This record gives sequence, C-alpha cells and structure tokens, in this order.
Amino acid sequence: LRAKRMRLGIQVYNERLAYNSTVEVTLRSQLRSALQQKQFELYYQPKVNLINGELSGVEAIVRWNHPDEGLLPPGHFIDLIEQSGIVHAFTRYTVEWAVNQIKTWEVQGTPMPVAVNLSAYNLMDNAFVPFVERLLASSGITPSLLEFELTESATMVDVAVSKRMINAFNRLGLKTSIDDFGTGMSSFAYLRELNVHTIKLDRAFIMNIAENTKDARIVEAMISLCHNLDIRVVAEGIEQQNQVTLLRSLNCDTGQGYFFGKPTPAGGIDALLSARESVMVNSLTK
Ligand code: C2E
Ligand code: MG
Ligand code: MG
Ligand code: MG
Repeated sequence: LRAKRMRLGIQVYNERLAYNSTVEVTLRSQLRSALQQKQFELYYQPKVNLINGELSGVEAIVRWNHPDEGLLPPGHFIDLIEQSGIVHAFTRYTVEWAVNQIKTWEVQGTPMPVAVNLSAYNLMDNAFVPFVERLLASSGITPSLLEFELTESATMVDVAVSKRMINAFNRLGLKTSIDDFGTGMSSFAYLRELNVHTIKLDRAFIMNIAENTKDARIVEAMISLCHNLDIRVVAEGIEQQNQVTLLRSLNCDTGQGYFFGKPTPAGGIDALLSARESVMVNSLTK
C-alpha cells in the first residue's frame, strides 16, 4: 500500500495529495489520545448463510469517530496505527470491544459469532494469545463465538509463526479465517499448513463473477478445493442478486457485502435480529 502511495505521489503529486499528507500527519499525532478517549468504534457487517438465508454472524470493522474529520474508515488510519507502535494496544482494544458485544448478545439470548480483523503485527506479539485466554476466562463468553481474521498476506510473512498462532487459537476453541484470500502471493499448499475454519474470497474475484466466466470457474475451483479440505468459504463484497444466485449454485457457504448490509453499529444488527423475518433473505429463493 505504501509503495503504491509513493508511486502515486511521484506521478501525480498535486494539492490534494499535499492536503492528504497534512491530514495524515495530524491523524498520526492524535492516535494515542484517540485510543485513550475511545474514539475508535466497532461497526458490524452481516454475514449470511447462503443455504438458508439466515444471518450467520458479523464481521467487526473499525471506524474512527474523529472529532474534526467525522467517521473515518480504516483505510485512513490502519497503516498509521501499524507504523506507530500502538498496534498491540489497538488490537487489544478492538478484541475487548468485540468480546463485550459477544457477551451482550449472548446474555440477551441472541448469540452472534463476531469476527475481528487482526494485523500482521499481532502475529509477532507473544503476549497476544495469553491476553485472549485471560479475556475469555474473565468474560465467560462461548469461545467459538469469537473469530479472528488474518489476511492472506499477513499469514505469508512467516508461515511457521502464523501456523503456531492459529493452532493456539484453535486450542482455545476460537474460530480463524484467512481474509482477502487469493490476493496474496500464496499458494494453496499453505492451506495444508494453516488449520483455519474459513477462507474469505476477496471481492476482486466476486466483483465480475456473474459476467466473467473465468472468474466464476476460478471461484468454483477454490470453493471445491476448500470444501475437500473441510474449510468453509465466505464470498466478500457481494453487491448484486446475480452474484448471490451464482455463488449459491457453486455451493459457497456464506456471503457478505453491501447486498446484505453495510457495516452498522451494534444496534443495526439488533434491528435485524428483532425482525427475524427480514433476516431471511427472500431473494435467495428467486
Ligand atoms: P476487510 O476485512 O476485507 O473488510 C471488508 C471491507 O470491504 C470493509 O471496508 C467493508 O466496508 C468493505 N465492503 C464490504 N462489503 C462490500 C461491498 O459489497 N462492496 C464494497 N465495495 N466494499 C465492501 P473498510 O471498512 O474500508 O475496511 C477495510 C479494511 O480495513 C478491512 O478489510 C480490514 O482489513 C481493515 N480493518 C477493518 N477493521 C479493522 C480492525 O479492527 N483491525 C485491523 N487490523 N484491520 C481492520
Ligand atoms: Mg476482514
Ligand atoms: Mg476481507
Ligand atoms: Mg477484502
């Protein structure tokens, strides 16, 4: 991402980029206090079971509720957090937030699986697994309701380290998934090494799936390979009915994307739960 930005900077340097980098400098200086003041919030995006149309869980996606800039998506600040040395504290904050929400949903009788995104740097944090273990014990949540998403490129930094951490999560009874699958330089061979429950097919493969036969054939092969390895498959970035129809015909397990819902505060998920009927995606049967 950085290299991309630098290339862009050289080619099309203009006032807008200069403005952006000023904002970036400001944001960078505010990260620590923003964390202390709890300006980061988790939003939740629905994941839908493509067989029965039911809500099967949510992905927690962070937003920065910035006092001057408004609600900022992670693209504006995750890189800054990773460069700033607060990434370990930041991730603990998001995991604690998610576990509190899991607890809330469990107590109110609507247990909801929640997936939290991890950063590549978290794989290097030896204290992370013990932290999660303590949090599970103190919260009393059902461990299988918590899932960690690791991007494919993060797991590739050091496959042995990734393998160890994923195995540790599995021993704690958590779920694990590989995010943005298919975009990294990985090979399917790594799926032998990494004991994950789920892979999430990147939006890039899903975008044109209804128009592009090659994309459809690639996705079909990835789904059947994963199923043969007993790995579930989530398709990311679904925006249209025809993508849903095709993915169902390819036996994709789960769908996520604006078609089903954008990331919303927890209340938006509660609204879905209280109107269970509307969670059933009627259009699935078309
Ligand atoms: P991701 O984990 O792949 O999350 C999905 C991203 O795709 C989100 O963007 C989401 O809003 C967007 N998306 C979902 N459905 C659709 C769709 O149908 N169409 C389109 N065009 N986009 C869709 P967002 O919020 O900008 O997040 C970007 C990335 O930031 C995430 O990608 C994830 O890698 C990272 N991220 C988010 N929250 C956290 C966090 O708490 N910690 C860390 N380390 N990274 C996070
Ligand atoms: Mg994710
Ligand atoms: Mg993703
Ligand atoms: Mg993605």
